[in-house]
Amino acid sequence: MTTGSTVGIGTSSLGGGPSQGGPPSLVATARFAPSPTGELHLGNARTALFNLLLARHLNGRFILRVEDTDQERSKDLHIEQQMKDLRWLGIDWDAGPDREDDRGPYRQSQRASVYASYFDMLAAKGQAYPCFCTAVELEVSRRTQLAAGRPPRYAGTCRELSPEQQERKRAAGIAPTTRFRVPTGRRVEFTDFVHGEQSFLSDDIGDFVVRRADGSAAFFFSNAVDDARMGVTHVLRGEDHLTNTPRQLMILEALGLRAPAYGHVSLLVGKDGAPLSKRHGDPSVRYYRERGYSPEAIANHLFRLGHSTSEHGFLTLEEMARAFDPTHLGRAPARFDDQQLTMWQKEWVNRLTADTARVWLSSVVPAHVDESASRAFIEAVMHNVVLPEDAQGWAQVVFGELPPLAADDEQVVRNAGSGYFSAAASAAATSDNDLPAIVNAVKAATGRTGAALYKPLRLALTGRTHGPELAPLLKAMPPGKARERLARFAA
Ligand code: GLU
Repeated sequence: MTTGSTVGIGTSSLGGGPSQGGPPSLVATARFAPSPTGELHLGNARTALFNLLLARHLNGRFILRVEDTDQERSKDLHIEQQMKDLRWLGIDWDAGPDREDDRGPYRQSQRASVYASYFDMLAAKGQAYPCFCTAVELEVSRRTQLAAGRPPRYAGTCRELSPEQQERKRAAGIAPTTRFRVPTGRRVEFTDFVHGEQSFLSDDIGDFVVRRADGSAAFFFSNAVDDARMGVTHVLRGEDHLTNTPRQLMILEALGLRAPAYGHVSLLVGKDGAPLSKRHGDPSVRYYRERGYSPEAIANHLFRLGHSTSEHGFLTLEEMARAFDPTHLGRAPARFDDQQLTMWQKEWVNRLTADTARVWLSSVVPAHVDESASRAFIEAVMHNVVLPEDAQGWAQVVFGELPPLAADDEQVVRNAGSGYFSAAASAAATSDNDLPAIVNAVKAATGRTGAALYKPLRLALTGRTHGPELAPLLKAMPPGKARERLARFAA
């Protein structure tokens, strides 16, 4: 096979924008380009994060472009929610649908006139043609090729229709799609900044649809045109788009538009190795937010998925941007791991301030609890929980009723004897739940020390053998509650 000329698009530079062709003043620009057809999943969130970090690393711009040309599946609600999830993660953009500038609009559904002029340009150059094939005809062709052992691609049925033939089809009421006329005998080469040198033969790529029958721009087209028009210099996206890139490079070349550097990062998979989006359960950002995970913990986990780094500590987004290295992006599938996320969440909890904890755990404290008891409770438990749901159990211990003790715990308490608990109960009442005062009273009454002194107290007061420090827990308890729990065993 002849490979003829080459679509010479070398785009490997990462030093503040591609080095080839562009004006020196070109600002490095990365983008996140979600389709608002559902919730923001962790895979998309990682792509958004990496692009933000890449832009910040290069002192460039980060833009948000909403790819909503598929009118049936795109919903305004999803745009709102995805933007909310991104902001919650700390991912903010310099330009986007809610922050327009002269490169916008940033919603593809509002860019029909931009695409129309480029469609006209392709048509004028003879590089696009109307295709009248029906879905059924295309499917039959696909199966025939597969049956003959050939990879399926568009057979070129409408490629050479004469203007008269086209007119007859239109007159018959068939609304055509528009196909890009893929040049024959070409080699498309580019340097992917994750995967390295790439080479595709144009003859392996069938003519593809750039405009749907309803007139809207198809993905390959709008995505490539917008990257060029919006000044995007770096496209960092999922590996599933790698084979789309030669098509997009051919479109850009045909239109005389500048190509960005492309990098395709490995997909995010779950523990079972299946792509995250197809995993059972709910990998959406909303799910993790609603469970009380911190955005910083999620970002720290995502930062290390498919991106190797020597930074092992808990990083802020600014620190991540400094440490982000696009040459350290991975080709092997990256595994999202709840245990790793929990580890980062614990790191976050370790750094938690009382102010942040009050907001984080506010929903756990019953409404009737007064401000100072609420503060005391949160400060008592905040470093002993990973998620608010863990604090829920402690709220029940402090503000609610205790379930009966397990038999062996009951035994420990009974063995301490009624004198132990009557001393404890009266000290609780007179000292306003002051643990040292209670401990001293019990010690004086029983002579007990160490675990023998503390364990029955903790069991009687909390129903558990372990947990947060007892003194602040006691301080958070409603008046009378500690005395009542201790007195139950004084009889
Ligand atoms: N809207 C496309 C997607 O969500 C964007 C692909 C790209 O980043 O180029 O997959």
